[in-house]
Amino acid sequence: MKLRVGARTDVGRVRKGNEDSFTAEDPLFAVADGMGGHQGGEVASSLALETIGKGSRPIEKMVQEANQAVYRRADQDPGLSGMGTTLTALVADGEVLRMAHVGDSRAYMLRDGRLQRLTKDHTVVQRLVDEGKLTAEEAEIHPQRSILTRALGVDESLQVDQGAIEPRTGDRLLLCSDGLTGMVDEERITRILIENPDPQAAADALVEAANEAGGQDNITAVVMDVLEAKGEPVPQGTQAAPQAARTETGSSRPSTSSSGDRRSGPRRALLWGAIALVLVGAGLWAVKALWVDGQFYVGESSGSVALYRGIPAAPLGFRLSRPIEEFGDLPSAEITRFPEYQDLRDGITAESEEDARSIIEQMRTALQATAPEPGPPGGQPSAPAGQP
Ligand code: MN
Repeated sequence: MKLRVGARTDVGRVRKGNEDSFTAEDPLFAVADGMGGHQGGEVASSLALETIGKGSRPIEKMVQEANQAVYRRADQDPGLSGMGTTLTALVADGEVLRMAHVGDSRAYMLRDGRLQRLTKDHTVVQRLVDEGKLTAEEAEIHPQRSILTRALGVDESLQVDQGAIEPRTGDRLLLCSDGLTGMVDEERITRILIENPDPQAAADALVEAANEAGGQDNITAVVMDVLEAKGEPVPQGTQAAPQAARTETGSSRPSTSSSGDRRSGPRRALLWGAIALVLVGAGLWAVKALWVDGQFYVGESSGSVALYRGIPAAPLGFRLSRPIEEFGDLPSAEITRFPEYQDLRDGITAESEEDARSIIEQMRTALQATAPEPGPPGGQPSAPAGQP
């Protein structure tokens, strides 16, 4: 296989240092986006690539060694604790490109003018897309899209996505950090790749586009052209990365999701879930104490309306709320019949405790207004305020 490569990394327009690293020396091509403290990110991404660049061995072994190297270094140096890095690597091996991937850097292949994504992001937001709670379009602009569920160097063991591509002559591959994909959409990336036949010019143009869009993160692009390969169309099934998400661009479909009020309930619950996962994932218990405990919502407890302190989510079994008062005269089955309160079980968010109490008061008024017979509110003879 004959390759020609162009590569560029850039600090961007906002960050002070560049925590991205890349390697583009046949047979190893890789992008790593480090994170964790002042120097941590830079050390993690460069150490990872340095380690996988040493000697030749199976790609899985290379990545595990890199993981160990970063993990041990972070363990030894308190200034580097908590550092980690993404890694997206391609290794040329005969007529095959072997791929290893962890994190939210990406590999793409441009073939016949169409861009295919070969990797799947290991992020909270991608997990929500997999669960059907978020569309791919929403994920691309989600404020928490860079929170990783997996990174190299943060744990002793590491799960790595692996795959292999059998490229054809004329294919172009792109490895990039999220500083590119977070600023430039796939349609535009496709256009830039098509308009710049020279791989170095293409890498430069991609970085420029990300900077023009704001350059909010470090940007890295490695562009590889397959000049010569055996190049048979690969039969279905043996082709490319098994765990790869194949996103075809060029036809940016209009959002097929139903818009409007029907979605407001699930969406609100999902947002809380994402925030909660972020808090738990990052171990931000101080934030929880300051922020979560200052939140109130109206929910359900033992079949009745209840006032809660906290947020309506329980990521990984951590409860982030508790009922502070139950209202036995407001059965949730009755209240959820009102369209405006149908989200009760997901939690109806309030601005403050006072606001939450006024929502509960409105529920009571609504229930009384529809009471079938005159008499005590709620129809039941003895149902005052519930058990605290
Ligand atoms: Mn980044």
